Amino acid sequence: MDQPPTLAASSPDFPLDTLIVNALLVAGGPECRVIRDGALGIQGDRVAWTGGPGHQPPPARVVVDAQGAVVLPGLVNAHCHLPMSLFRGLADDLALDAWLNEHIFPAEARFLSPETVTAGALLSLAELLLSGCTTVCDGYFFEDQVAEAAVLAGIRAVAAQGVLDFPAPGVPDPRENVRAAADFVTRWSGRSPLVTPAIFCHSPYTCGPDTLKAAKRAAGDAGALFQIHAAETRGEVEQSRKILGKTPIAHLHSLGVLDAQTLVVHAVWADERDVEILARSGAGVAVCTASNMKLASGIAPLPGLLAAGVPTGLGTDGPASNNRLDVFSEMGATARLHKLATGDPTAVGAKTALFLATEGGATALGLTGLGRLEPGWAADVVVLRPDRPNLTPAYDPVSLAVYAASGADVRHVWVAGRQVVEEGRLLTLELAEILAKARSLAKRIGGRGA
Ligand SMILES: [Zn+2]
Repeated sequence: MDQPPTLAASSPDFPLDTLIVNALLVAGGPECRVIRDGALGIQGDRVAWTGGPGHQPPPARVVVDAQGAVVLPGLVNAHCHLPMSLFRGLADDLALDAWLNEHIFPAEARFLSPETVTAGALLSLAELLLSGCTTVCDGYFFEDQVAEAAVLAGIRAVAAQGVLDFPAPGVPDPRENVRAAADFVTRWSGRSPLVTPAIFCHSPYTCGPDTLKAAKRAAGDAGALFQIHAAETRGEVEQSRKILGKTPIAHLHSLGVLDAQTLVVHAVWADERDVEILARSGAGVAVCTASNMKLASGIAPLPGLLAAGVPTGLGTDGPASNNRLDVFSEMGATARLHKLATGDPTAVGAKTALFLATEGGATALGLTGLGRLEPGWAADVVVLRPDRPNLTPAYDPVSLAVYAASGADVRHVWVAGRQVVEEGRLLTLELAEILAKARSLAKRIGGRGA
């Protein structure tokens, strides 16, 4: 339903920087407000104006005609390991244990360096921006390189330095793992408006209780997000029950690391009590549907998490376990999977899926004012192509975005008011150079070209 146009109180200096007209505008929010024949004005890094037919927008320096196409908030990828694009396709069709221990950990130990992390991160960031993702939450090693790549790409990022209780890339001495992560957070606090530093403990089975508590304390002292994979596989939960006498989520709770600044990744095998613990603690969850499907890990209890009020977002997980970084595809897969799993076609609807991939994900990451196209909210905007058969006709733009669109349908992207993709081309990165570098590194990693 069209609403009267509104002006952001904090934007007195018209003209607007950019005005997007002739838009099938999905403003977002829990109700997923839609404005047909709408327009959206950007001033600085914020949305400054939205309106429908008959509402005269203020003048703007640049006017972009969406040609009737869907315009929606930039998508939020709530969990990723960006540099792992270099390992995409290296090992597939395996369970998590075998994939991780026999292929990924050895490849990481052998090939990760600041150079490869930068190359892999840039490759993933190019893929994300071109497919309409404007915010990504990453957890990896050599995270300074990831954060620098994010600044270069012009994407919004929560970047978290990884912590493991065994020698890790860039942190050979595990006794230094928490200090290295805390130092990373210090280095990046306030350094870029696009990068929010954080700490990422890999899992309760690779980080002992002392490490988990120390890492959470360091994150808490810095006001930073603490992230951790947990309850990803049935085997992990069984082992945790056997060794610790409790589930991984109950274990994290008993250590005091679950609170509103914690993001639990996966929670596939969270039982009802775990969901209650998560809800009471205020912790967020990143659900990684495609990765969980590909590794046959299981189906996260998403309807239960949402009913309990757990802040939840959608993550692709790393490009080596997905194997693509397309949040549109993640929305469609998530909605479809939960209909199938519950036998209820209303279990996760299009509006819910879009909310999870926008404002819901931002909230789970602790980011505010992000994920809607309303005055005062961040100007992270995606314009889809007007000429795609799969996006025609446009009865319901939310249905199109979730069930019909893919990242390949993205035409323009802005992050914090800066255009980063124009007519499907990256404006911030040299894609040809990034591809050439990745191909050259792949020869070393996989023994053959890409
Ligand atoms: Zn992950």
